[in-house]
Amino acid sequence: MKNGLRLYITIAASAVALQGLAQTTKVFKGQGPIRGVSTVSRPVQRQWKGVFSQKGDDVFFGNDFQGARLNGLVKLNDTLYTALITSENTPVNSSPWYAFKVWAETPKEITLKLTYQQGSRHRYPPKMSKDGKIWTAVEPAAVKKVFEEDSLPGEYQFKLKVGKDTTWVAAQELFTSKQANAWLDELTKKPKSSAEVIGYSRLSKPLTLVKMGNPKSKKRILIIGRQHPPEVTGQYAMKAFVETINSGTALSNKFLKDYLVYVVPLMNPDGVDNGNWRHNDGGIDLNRDWDAFNQPESSAVRDFLKKEIADDGNKLIFSIDFHSTQDDIYYRVDPQMKGNMPNLISDWLTKTQEQIPGYVPNVKALYSGGGTFTAFSYFFKQYGTEALVYEIGDNTPRDFIKHKGEVSAEILMNLLLNK
Ligand SMILES: [Zn+2]
Repeated sequence: MKNGLRLYITIAASAVALQGLAQTTKVFKGQGPIRGVSTVSRPVQRQWKGVFSQKGDDVFFGNDFQGARLNGLVKLNDTLYTALITSENTPVNSSPWYAFKVWAETPKEITLKLTYQQGSRHRYPPKMSKDGKIWTAVEPAAVKKVFEEDSLPGEYQFKLKVGKDTTWVAAQELFTSKQANAWLDELTKKPKSSAEVIGYSRLSKPLTLVKMGNPKSKKRILIIGRQHPPEVTGQYAMKAFVETINSGTALSNKFLKDYLVYVVPLMNPDGVDNGNWRHNDGGIDLNRDWDAFNQPESSAVRDFLKKEIADDGNKLIFSIDFHSTQDDIYYRVDPQMKGNMPNLISDWLTKTQEQIPGYVPNVKALYSGGGTFTAFSYFFKQYGTEALVYEIGDNTPRDFIKHKGEVSAEILMNLLLNK
């Protein structure tokens, strides 16, 4: 979720003040109220795949793999190249999600300019990899916790050493349906776990749901992720969260004896694999379709829950939907509105703050009745589910994402077992 980028408040950071530095830090104010939009399918532009090369030149660029985009490549002078990055359709939020491979016959240093379609601004500091698996930031100093969209450049330029060995350049680490499915296979091999295809994407990719825990339990929770393709940091958070729930510890075993957990880690496989900035292959933001249900991906989860939860007293007690945005934030249902387990979310956030020294959860209520549009509000309205949107910053350190995901899962299991 990422709108209302211009809304910020500035507060003095007590931690920084203690160090005697006269600095302030910005707290991300998050997005404004969710409004309904049409979710009837619209055309999308898919990217041409292949090798981009200029006549007589020995530097090559390739995009023949899943995830993120390269839409055009022009050589401007001996060492300057510009890569054009465009979205699946418009309007779309400004998340130019790029990735490509580059190599050259003779080693040299080139300058790469990332040029985005009109009206779009640079969001992701580039990462580099030699194998498409291990990534390093091109410019560590470019890591910003909270950015102001107005101050971001409309294009972005950096230097790169190229040679015979392929270098991968990407907006975020590649985590495509291939990686997601490999991870699902691992998860499904664990005790008390099984996978089920609950539907298909518009391009006929399976939408896989993993069940973990006690199938006879009437107490259920739901974990979903990756409605929005570039939101890789949210996927990392979800991975740590889910792995902790199914970690084989005493707490995990106790929890999975008492609860049944549903996980849909990849809600938008077409968007992820085709490098869409935001939408599915129907050209629609899936997280606005949880009222009209015009898209197969959101409809599949709705239908699955209707079948599983509506009958025989099963309860969807808790749901969590993982995303990425500028900085870590939680979106919740207005606390005045009570669900299946009142105070669960508040208690969880309080304990998260207690257990991660120096971390102050940023929380915003984002649903207080009316049309649902988003997944979390639909789960609340339909089932009284205690529902949370778990957003991770684009640039949040990866080790912190993992740590917070693990701690969050432990706290949740303890609370759910003891309420
Ligand atoms: Zn999102």
